[in-house]
Amino acid sequence: MNFTITSKGDETSDALCEKMKTYLIDFGLVWNEEKPELVISVGGDGTLLSNFHRYRNRLSTTAFIGVHTGHLGFYADWTPQEVEKLVIDIAKTPFDIVEYPLLEVMVSYINGDSDSRYLALNECTVKATEGSLVMDVLIKNDHFETFRGDGLCISTPSGSTAYNKALGGAIVHPSLEAIQLAEMASINNRVFRTVGSPLILPKHHTCLLIPVNDVNFTVTIDHLTLLHKDVKSIRCKVASEKVRFARYRSFPFWSRVKESFVGDKS
Ligand code: NAP
Ligand code: MN
Repeated sequence: MNFTITSKGDETSDALCEKMKTYLIDFGLVWNEEKPELVISVGGDGTLLSNFHRYRNRLSTTAFIGVHTGHLGFYADWTPQEVEKLVIDIAKTPFDIVEYPLLEVMVSYINGDSDSRYLALNECTVKATEGSLVMDVLIKNDHFETFRGDGLCISTPSGSTAYNKALGGAIVHPSLEAIQLAEMASINNRVFRTVGSPLILPKHHTCLLIPVNDVNFTVTIDHLTLLHKDVKSIRCKVASEKVRFARYRSFPFWSRVKESFVGDKS
């Protein structure tokens, strides 16, 4: 099996990375950065997010796995102490695959430039380049509200524990094929009104954002920040692609949520 490992770049992650690489090569696995079937991230969730984007054109044949060298991650859920067991499992056992939904973002332009298509593992956020963001929000092509405020966040289920959670969004189990629209500080008074609650949309229900006046936006896709000019619309929906995680042991999503946010008092 072809594999690659990337490190967050700190000393601990680099050392762990080298150790795993040596063991796996000794076990007969093949180091291949171009066409890996297994991509191991050592560091944190951010390291796995970078790998997701690096191998974004090979999602159907690549499986991801993450080791955390800092706090427990949602994607990076193996501890450094478990690495020896993990390496043996990788070498000896065929892995199960768990698939999580992704978010598709299509940006269209006024000047007729071809659309830009992105896939997000966590979320897409849209903010104004200056002043408040003002956008019409259409759901399934019907006008739902005119949003005025700091910005909008559209997240995947596995991204619901990241930025979305900080915005008061719900935590969504990744077995649900859905996206969540959460507001960032909407302006609500007699003139402007938004629903206020985060919305969870099922597959095939698109969320279309149309500029009301300014047409330049700061759009983030996971950890990437992009400036988009002359925007006609931003369309978000559950993507047809999925991300695949290699599973060697069970660590249920709600246990990860509990360990990350609630702690272990019982
Ligand atoms: P970062 O600034 O290091 O990330 C912020 C934190 O989010 C880190 O602790 C990161 O974990 C954690 N994280 C990433 N994905 C997560 C997930 N699915 N569930 C729970 N926590 C998650 O930048 P980064 O590591 O490149 O990550 C980019 C992400 O940061 C964005 O996708 C966005 O979700 C998040 N973010 C959050 C806020 C906020 O909460 N107010 C604001 C901006 C961005 P690690 O330390 O393990 O990397
Ligand atoms: Mn990070």
